[in-house]
Amino acid sequence: MIQESLITAAKLASINAYAPKSNIQVGCILKIEPGEQGKGGIITGVNIETHGTDTVHAEVCAVAHALTRGYRMHDVVSLTLWFPKYAQPPCGACCQFLSNFFKDDFPLICAGPDGVIETTLGECLPYAYKGRKR
Ligand SMILES: [Zn+2]
Repeated sequence: MIQESLITAAKLASINAYAPKSNIQVGCILKIEPGEQGKGGIITGVNIETHGTDTVHAEVCAVAHALTRGYRMHDVVSLTLWFPKYAQPPCGACCQFLSNFFKDDFPLICAGPDGVIETTLGECLPYAYKGRKR
């Protein structure tokens, strides 16, 4: 799937976000190659805002969705994010979360109405805590 298709998929996914507080609906796509299980494709995630609990960001939602569906994180080859106000890389908390599953060179495609930022997880959070000395 080419980058433009991933961005379109992320934008479509954002329609399902639950964002009554911010009204900022974010969509996320994990692109997954067929691994030893032979199943690849895309997995979606959206932000979920609730009262009295922390907001679930779209990136965390997508990883939870993939794990729940039985995908292996080493088969995930990229993350595409649609932020409806402007192109925006994942927040620091999401980068830290993602660093538990993906290496520093993991591609991030961050899209918004003003364009696309192509970066990597390591560029966004170069000193992610990994529970061990670097
Ligand atoms: Zn986040």
